[in-house]
Amino acid sequence: MSPVSRQNDGSISETRTPASPRIDFQPLVKELDLYGDELEEAAVRVIRSGWYLRGPETRLLEEELAALCAGQTGETLHCVAVSNGLDALRLMIRAYMEHGRLKAGDEVLYPANTYIASVMPLTEFGLIPVGVEPDASDFNMSLSEAEKHVSGRTRAVMLVHLYGNPAWDAAAAARLKERGILIFEDNAQAIGAEAAEEGLHGSRYTGSLGDCAAFSFYPSKNIGAMGDAGAVVTADAGIARTVRTLANYGSERRYYNILEGYNCRMDEIQAAMLRVKLRHIGEVTARRQQTAALYDRLITNPEIVKPRIHPDRSQVWHQYVIRSHDRDRLRDYLMEHGVATEIHYPVPPHLQPSMKGRTSGSFPFTERLSGEVLSLPIGYVSEEEVSRIAGLLNRFR
Ligand SMILES: *Cc1c(COP(=O)(O)O)cnc(C)c1O
Repeated sequence: MSPVSRQNDGSISETRTPASPRIDFQPLVKELDLYGDELEEAAVRVIRSGWYLRGPETRLLEEELAALCAGQTGETLHCVAVSNGLDALRLMIRAYMEHGRLKAGDEVLYPANTYIASVMPLTEFGLIPVGVEPDASDFNMSLSEAEKHVSGRTRAVMLVHLYGNPAWDAAAAARLKERGILIFEDNAQAIGAEAAEEGLHGSRYTGSLGDCAAFSFYPSKNIGAMGDAGAVVTADAGIARTVRTLANYGSERRYYNILEGYNCRMDEIQAAMLRVKLRHIGEVTARRQQTAALYDRLITNPEIVKPRIHPDRSQVWHQYVIRSHDRDRLRDYLMEHGVATEIHYPVPPHLQPSMKGRTSGSFPFTERLSGEVLSLPIGYVSEEEVSRIAGLLNRFR
């Protein structure tokens, strides 16, 4: 019998017999070493409270996440806790449409190599996604590159801080704003990342950079729920209110519906789990940064392209993504030596059957990346495991 490993979503996949102890890609159970007792205590508190939706945990989480995003800026941010990251994105787009700031047929620029969830809420509401190739140095669409693709119909940019690397350019953002173009942040992968900004003391956090941001707390995100959860963060009180209304059947007052809404609420128990984890975000980020620095130091094989460590921004390393011309063979080789890896992402949105006829343009660099990228375990690996992985990579020919 071949050994099996459990994936994040609970499914089971077959793997080959590992030659040495297995290094899993995301053994989430290891998080319990860090704050297992606190999570159990918080879960019991919610269970015993008899209050499971729209209660104190959700309200406090919203305050705490808004404060985290505002950082030292003194800005007032509004946060709405919702059911998952995709719903956060959908509610954000719907709210701007309700406010007349977006309409069907408007073009929205997006990074061609993002996860499909960044694009789905655009096509769902009749917006036209216009892909932009990412930068070779860091996998992100830069705002200055996006600017080159602005047409008379462009109304917004969907900025994605892919792999936990903030994709911010304050000067380009100001120029886009001048032209009346909205900036949405898909901050599913970069909670707690900072982007330095001139003229400001310190820096600003992702999720507070553009007009409105969507967060995901999918279990394997840097801060993950024990199930699905997400959030919308914005400085615009009107938009926040509309998001909250839409997420609760389109109703502000029970049984009176002013908008055609959804049920996209976050559970109290997820809010309680997330409040525990948010208290540890500093440790979570620091551990990922140390691991990334160690990979960067130890991987010396010239055939392997390492991700760039930017000295001027804080990357939170949702993924540590290397590139190889021989990616599939490299992945098999690592698996044979007991190291699990992932591909983010094997098929870009514009090539997905579900997007057929909904996107235009060709994206050769994005397509090349989808054949070369490989995500190494990060977040739950020891120094010893990192050196073992780096040693394997350095011996790969
Ligand atoms: C995870 C993710 C989402 C979707 O979040 P869910 O909570 O899984 O719905 C959206 N965009 C990006 C970039 C993501 O990584």
